[in-house]
Amino acid sequence: MSPAPPRPGKDLRRHFPIFRHAREPFHFLDNAATGQICDEAAQALLHFETRARANVKRGVYRLADQATAAFDAARASMARYLGETEKNNVVFTSGATAALNIAAHGLARRLGPGDEILLTTLEHHSNIVPWQLTAERQGAVIKAIPVTDEGRLDLDHLDRLVTNETRIIATTHVSNVTGAVTDLGRLRRAADAVGAVLVVDGAQRAPHGPIDIAATGADLYAFSAHKMFAATGAGVLWGKTELLADFEPLLGGGEMIRQVTFEKTTFAPPPHRFEAGTPPIGAVLAMAAAADWLATLDWRAIAEHELGLTARLLDGLQTLPGLRIVGPSGLQGRFGVVSFDIDDIHAHDICQLTDQLEGVALRGGHHCCQPLMHRFATDATARASLAPYNDTDDIDALIRGLDQTIRMLT
Ligand code: PMP
Repeated sequence: MSPAPPRPGKDLRRHFPIFRHAREPFHFLDNAATGQICDEAAQALLHFETRARANVKRGVYRLADQATAAFDAARASMARYLGETEKNNVVFTSGATAALNIAAHGLARRLGPGDEILLTTLEHHSNIVPWQLTAERQGAVIKAIPVTDEGRLDLDHLDRLVTNETRIIATTHVSNVTGAVTDLGRLRRAADAVGAVLVVDGAQRAPHGPIDIAATGADLYAFSAHKMFAATGAGVLWGKTELLADFEPLLGGGEMIRQVTFEKTTFAPPPHRFEAGTPPIGAVLAMAAAADWLATLDWRAIAEHELGLTARLLDGLQTLPGLRIVGPSGLQGRFGVVSFDIDDIHAHDICQLTDQLEGVALRGGHHCCQPLMHRFATDATARASLAPYNDTDDIDALIRGLDQTIRMLT
């Protein structure tokens, strides 16, 4: 019988080297920017780099063969994390940003002048700018679904926004600012009504446990390893077989070709077509190790734990004078990402002081979501974002730090 999974909170924290090495109180609440690396991922990375290192897909000696086999197994692990049986639908990238750029480049040939790409006001710049680059080249038009005062997608306008010209709907699965979860079912139906492709940025969903990719309704799905407790430098673009097969590669180079002559190059089939050059092998193996480990955790218990912490956080924030939550004030349909501002105290001052006073790592800024900041008439918010290793001590330190900050600066 396999041992019971670690309990969320302090028990789980023991599986993360950074917390074992911390010499002073360290309350890490910037998980939406990057998660801390877990033991399994750190060990996989170190093992590859120090004991098993060889390039993949090309060598014929045993070490290279073993590296290639490990790389293939990592693809199968990531397919399993997505509940998918076809591992060749998993493209390894350097992260969510690269994945979305491959998607936007690949879908360009479906776009002509006047065709429409529907985004949302919640999007991270990495799910806006690649579409703008493609739209400019193809003469396509960008539109955006608005958000409500609670920082959720306002889908009342969907019928008006989706037209016969809509070719692509690209949305985040979970907002990195408000924590709101997108109603992907609604967007899938809207896309189906006009034959559009649904692209989902899963960067903030991937750290919250295995994903049933079929249930998301996505045609293409992107995420980064570093947010799911693995190393920096790797990520995934998952795509439906027929879509990926139709995509032109974004990068050309070694290991993505079938044949090269000076007259013409033919490309390897997906996923290799999108993996030019030496991939981030160690980071990919670490991502797979993290995914395999994450799949063993009790996600029902983690979700309950994080919801409890989110409730404690929202309650605590609501006692502080001058504080405005930018996003849902309730617990329904959200993850533990909470943004806020406090009167005219700058978000950077909030972050610096809570760090100095209580050892709390918060994020302050526009979170690469300037259109959303504009919607809420601000240029920056402070943000606390939770992971399974957070516990009540982190939330209480944050509230204490904010209380002191407000006293000092107002
Ligand atoms: N999308 C969302 C929603 C994100 O939060 C982030 C990271 N902040 C990204 C995309 C980009 O991820 P990366 O920088 O790892 O490519």
